[in-house]
Amino acid sequence: MRGDRRGDKGEAVSPWVLRGLRNGVVTTRWPARPDQYASEWRGPASIRDPGRRAGDDLALLCPTQAIGSRPDGTLQLDQGRCILCGQCVARRPDVFEWSAGPAVAALTRAGLVVPEIPDTDANLAAIRDGLRARTAALRRSVHLRHVDAGSDGAEEQEIQALLNPVYDVHRLGIFFTASPRHADVLLVTGAGARGMTAPLRRTYDGMPDPKIVVAVGTDAVSGGLVSPSYATTGGVGGTVPVDVWLPGSPPSPFSILHALLLALGRLPGGGQPGGRESGGGRRDRGEDR
Ligand code: SF4
Repeated sequence: MRGDRRGDKGEAVSPWVLRGLRNGVVTTRWPARPDQYASEWRGPASIRDPGRRAGDDLALLCPTQAIGSRPDGTLQLDQGRCILCGQCVARRPDVFEWSAGPAVAALTRAGLVVPEIPDTDANLAAIRDGLRARTAALRRSVHLRHVDAGSDGAEEQEIQALLNPVYDVHRLGIFFTASPRHADVLLVTGAGARGMTAPLRRTYDGMPDPKIVVAVGTDAVSGGLVSPSYATTGGVGGTVPVDVWLPGSPPSPFSILHALLLALGRLPGGGQPGGRESGGGRRDRGEDR
């Protein structure tokens, strides 16, 4: 795990263990309060200079075709396709860098492309307002149904972590349910396995309105390294209507928390500096108990 520290003997020591031993309290209050550990998480790769010209040599660095060019010849990077392999950052640190912090989710698929596509902002307010109108009734009792649509298991590990005492998603009034009939939010992981298309759609159809869909992880957003293929649909957006797109391979529990709060309209301002519709978890006052 990226947040681990190495002890003198080389073993991994979780900062949460050290914090718990020191303070006697391990539960984070993020995003209601700043959390240094949350800020240390890195997001998908990004571009240092938004106006930089693209080149074939740069696109060839990426195994998932996340790096490309715009019609005007400038470089672009689709964070929805980034699996955080690190090739671009390691080989061309003058061009690429890691985005910082866990606030990487977006309300539109185009919102994951950097530099930001100019016309993204035009529809953003309407999308955000529509989402808030749908979720207003949910308030502090939100139930999640998770469906694995062809995941490698990494995202499930991070989703599972939401329930531990560290992240404690219950403090936010968010709970998991086994029944689609009781669910408000559908968390979908995986590259969109064709064998899961019908079960995923049935789950979505079985949920009562209002309902929200969060695509969790780069695989769910775009299919990641293995899509599209005969076995996968290249993400889950073609099967269910995604409301929040969360890249990462896998996204951290902080990022999943951020995506949920973004979906529920609980991040004041709804965006972070720079116009990215991802909520700005490091500065916002998300609800807490
Ligand atoms: S980190 Fe890897 S997957 Fe992401 S843009 Fe760079 S080369 Fe592509």
